[in-house]
Amino acid sequence: MRVAIDTQPGGAAPNEDWVAGTPTLAVVLDGLSTAGLDTGCRHGVPWYVTHLGSQLVGALADPETSLTAGLASALERVAALHPECDLGNPGTPSATVAILRERPGFLDYLVLADSPIVLEGAGGCTVHTDLRVDGVLPELRAEVEQYETHTAEHREALRRLVTEQRQTRNTPTGYWVAASDAEAAAHAVVGSTPAEDVRAAAVLSDGASRLVTEYGMATWSEVFTTLRTGGPQELIATVRKVEATDPTGRRWPRYKSGDDAAVAFCQW
Ligand SMILES: [Zn+2]
Repeated sequence: MRVAIDTQPGGAAPNEDWVAGTPTLAVVLDGLSTAGLDTGCRHGVPWYVTHLGSQLVGALADPETSLTAGLASALERVAALHPECDLGNPGTPSATVAILRERPGFLDYLVLADSPIVLEGAGGCTVHTDLRVDGVLPELRAEVEQYETHTAEHREALRRLVTEQRQTRNTPTGYWVAASDAEAAAHAVVGSTPAEDVRAAAVLSDGASRLVTEYGMATWSEVFTTLRTGGPQELIATVRKVEATDPTGRRWPRYKSGDDAAVAFCQW
């Protein structure tokens, strides 16, 4: 497997996405927004995704370790790196996880929350994602989306949404993300597909996949064309160009005008 990667922050704040590629592994993490609220952690989201990603690559070095077991192990190891922080805080740093791994004859995938894995085959594209978060608190989400970004009303609505999300995050009635508790790994969506059915694959944070899913400005097939010609860098540049035509989120209501984006493009 040949993996090309890129990640770019969506604005002036530090990048909270993380991406890595190895000859058998593609990993994308998307740190969840804290909306400026307390997290109980002095390290921050960029620290969290960097360490979770590095621990994941280490934990999955053994091909006998399943993706779920590797994620559980990585979550435990990161928690052990900052025991002095309040890991029980409902706002403890957290992230979506998307992993694609090659083994002889098969591709295994794991998704936890909304960073998708898109597989391109002869018959079209297949998307693996976990959209449970979209089913939670729809009225508060709608409230955020009624305001233009960069307004005080938008910022306040986002804080209300994140405050409430934290109460349902990693609970049986809510949705699951990587945070401080290894139990989340058991709730990830996993599967396998024969490698011969896949021509190329893209592992993306939603800051990149929204070009297709939210903005409707490209098809998955067009995304793969862009990845083949200009690589991950060109795909992220395309997302930014589209967002620049709607800086305040009037056409495409969203949490910020540009979200951090991460892309791993896999070819054989
Ligand atoms: Zn910490």
